[in-house]
Amino acid sequence: MTNLTTHSSGPRQQFISVDEARQRILDHFAPLPPRRVPLLEALGLVLAESIWAHEPVPPFTNSAMDGYAVRAADTVGASPEHSVTLRVIGEAPAGGARARPHSHNADSLAVYPGTAVRIMTGALLPPGADAVVRFEETDEIDTVNLGGRREIVAVRRPVLPGENVRPAGEDIPQGSLVLEAGTVLGPAHLGILAALGQTWVLAHPRPRVAILATGDEVVPPDQPLQPGQIRNSNSIVLAALVLQTGGRPHLIGIASDQDADLERHFHLARDADLILTSGGVSQGDYDRVKEFLRRRGRFEIWQVRIKPGKPMAFGFIDETPVIALPGNPVASVVAFLQFARPALLRLLGRNELEPVRVRATLTQSIDNRGQRRHFVRAQIEAHHGRLFVTPVANQGSGVLTGLTRGNSLAVIPEEWSEAPPGSEVEVELYDLTTAAALLAKLH
Ligand code: AMP
Ligand code: MG
Repeated sequence: MTNLTTHSSGPRQQFISVDEARQRILDHFAPLPPRRVPLLEALGLVLAESIWAHEPVPPFTNSAMDGYAVRAADTVGASPEHSVTLRVIGEAPAGGARARPHSHNADSLAVYPGTAVRIMTGALLPPGADAVVRFEETDEIDTVNLGGRREIVAVRRPVLPGENVRPAGEDIPQGSLVLEAGTVLGPAHLGILAALGQTWVLAHPRPRVAILATGDEVVPPDQPLQPGQIRNSNSIVLAALVLQTGGRPHLIGIASDQDADLERHFHLARDADLILTSGGVSQGDYDRVKEFLRRRGRFEIWQVRIKPGKPMAFGFIDETPVIALPGNPVASVVAFLQFARPALLRLLGRNELEPVRVRATLTQSIDNRGQRRHFVRAQIEAHHGRLFVTPVANQGSGVLTGLTRGNSLAVIPEEWSEAPPGSEVEVELYDLTTAAALLAKLH
């Protein structure tokens, strides 16, 4: 993280494309060093080791059904009219090390020709048995002098060897490669680890992301407003986005535009893997964050060809990367999604850094003068198997409700000065619920 060039002698503001800004940021991010984490905390993390099965799953051959463990050969020719009767010599509940014999003088129980063992799902298959007949295919014959115990079973259907039996290692053979490094751990992956007796796992940990709001006018949301003040909404939005992406957000407060206060707040973030700031990097007289960053760290200040969210900065304070996002609420979200989200995913060790993208037909025209890539807050919908996208009413970069009235971002390329109605545009979906609902409607 040392080869970031500063351009103090060059132009003070660089104009760069979205793709270039993203690449310049991503060049400085690599997966965090793996750590052992408890299983449940590993949900959604990327596995940093390959897992080989040191034992088979299931660990022993067992019954897949509640029924009778039999020798399949004994059931040949069984039918409802001509059932085969077998003597029940014991029972095998799940969890027992061996089947329990009915007669007191037998200590180990094997199914020999003409006999059966009553068996429950998950119970160890007794030696000699090679199949299980489900209860539904049998009639139990009570014999009075044996206290009502089912000592005889009538089998109404033949079973094949192996029927209703789960062999040891059927799911995971011993010695096999069961999870490869790089796997994104979902619920079933965690289950496999648990089944193998592994309660901690080596994974790329959740990045700690410090979130700092800046601006003399910005106050905490739980404070009454004085004239000229606004409440800090950016920090909670960014923290939620960090959480959704898989990071661990830390709200470190609001810094005024003063150097000493900025310094004090950055000190609070010294253990973070990434710092996100909002505000203070645009052209205003008091947008002093960028001046501070330029003096304090190794920084590039950018004007990105993006709408909304042009002003941005990227660099390092000591060794910690800082992405300085614009202050306008919508701009900071869009910039987070384009620049901070892929950086976070990279820290998490993920290979797929892109959101879900689909193509849809635009229902209204969108103006795009100024050669910027325009991320339009929009509503995407499926009608008769086709996707249509409509911009939400107010596209102001401070209008947070624009994001809640839409479910997606339509992307108008920088080369288009206008996107006419009926044109095909790319739409980015960040909400997987929306993506799933659309998918369901396309069929
Ligand atoms: P700036 O980038 O500092 O020029 O800020 C642009 C606009 O975003 C101004 O109207 C700020 O008041 C507003 N803003 C800055 N920070 C926040 C914040 N944390 N929450 C809500 N609005 C903010
Ligand atoms: Mg400001």
